[in-house]
Amino acid sequence: MKLVTTSILVLASAVVVPHANGQFQLSTKLPDDEYSALIKPIVESVATSINEHISLPRPVEITSGACQVQNAFFVPRAANNVDTIVLCTELLALMAGEIRGLKLDENQAGIAFLSETLFVLLHEMGHSLISVLELPLLGQEEDAADQFAAYVMSSEPVLALWAARLWNPGNSRNQLVPLGAFSDQHGLGPQRYFNILCWTYGADPPGRAFVAQLSSLPAERARTCPNEYNLMRTSWERLLKPFSKQDLLDNEEPSRNASGQWRFIESMDSGASRLRCSASGTIELWQLGDSFDGTMRQEGTCIVRNVPVDNSTSGQVTDGNVTGDQLRFVAEKCTYTGEFKHQHMRMEGSVECAVDGSDKPMTGTWQAVR
Ligand SMILES: [Zn+2]
Repeated sequence: MKLVTTSILVLASAVVVPHANGQFQLSTKLPDDEYSALIKPIVESVATSINEHISLPRPVEITSGACQVQNAFFVPRAANNVDTIVLCTELLALMAGEIRGLKLDENQAGIAFLSETLFVLLHEMGHSLISVLELPLLGQEEDAADQFAAYVMSSEPVLALWAARLWNPGNSRNQLVPLGAFSDQHGLGPQRYFNILCWTYGADPPGRAFVAQLSSLPAERARTCPNEYNLMRTSWERLLKPFSKQDLLDNEEPSRNASGQWRFIESMDSGASRLRCSASGTIELWQLGDSFDGTMRQEGTCIVRNVPVDNSTSGQVTDGNVTGDQLRFVAEKCTYTGEFKHQHMRMEGSVECAVDGSDKPMTGTWQAVR
C-alpha cells in the first residue's frame, strides 16, 4: 500500500470528529474484524475530504457489518434514526478474496482494494447526498450515484481504472459476483464498466488516452466521453452548489499521468572507459497523485572494451514523480529524467547510471511510447 499511504491517505491525517453535526462520519461501532481495519483509513480520509467541501444538514454514519448479502446500502434514518451507509462485510470479503486471487504484488493489491472500496463508498455517498440534501434528479438515481463516484474519482484515473474492473465484462469477476451483488437496480455490468472509463477518460482526453487504450473503450464511445464528463460534472456541481463550501474538484488542469504500458529504448556510454550500453523493453507505471512506481523489463547489450556483455534485466521502477510536463524515476542503478511529448503518449529525456567499480557514471538518452 505504499502509493496509497503516500498520496490518498495523506488526506486521513485529520481525525473525523465523532457525532459532529452534518458530516459524514465513521461509526464508532465498527465490528472488530480485518475488514474494519482495512476500510477505516479509507472511510476516514474520504469523509474528511468530502466534509471539507460539502455541508450536510445532519450526520451520515458509515459502518460495516454482516448483511447476509454481498452488497452495500444507504439506509435513510436507520435504526438509531441516523442516516447510515453500510458496507457489507460479505462484499468486502468478496472483493478482498478476488483481489488475492489475482496474485498482485502488495502495492497493486492495496490499490485494487482501495479503488473498489472507494467506488462503492462514493456510490453510496451519492445516494445519501441525494436523500439528505433532497437533490432533484431527472434520470435514474443509480446512474447519478455512479456519476458522483466517477466525478470524485476522475482526478485519479488509475483508481477509476481499477474500480471499473468490478464490472469488466471480460473479467472473471462477473462469474464470481452473484447476480444482485451491488447490482440490484444498478446498470448492467459492462455498461457501468464503460461508463466509469468513459467519464475518467473524458475528464482529460489527451492526458488520459492510456485509459481508453488499456480498457478497450470503443472509439465510437470515446468520442462522446468529453461531453458526457462535462455534463455529469456540471450537473453534480450545480446540484451541490447550495451546500458547497468549495467545489469537490479544483479547476486546475489535470496533472500529467505516466500510468500505462510503455515501450522504451535507451543508449548510454561512459566516455573514457570505453563502456557503452543499449537496451529496449517495456515499463509499466502506475501513478497516484504526482507519484508513480512500477516495473521494467529490458533486453540489451553492453560493450565493455569491445567485448559484448548481456544487459538484459528486469526490476522495479521507484521514486517516480511528475511535475508539470517533467518526470523523474529510478530503475536499477539508473536515474531517468525527461518530459512528456506528443499529447503525453511519448516521453523522452536523459539517463544517468552508476557503474560498478567506477565513480564515473554512464550517461545517455531514452525514449518511450505508450
Ligand atoms: Zn446504488
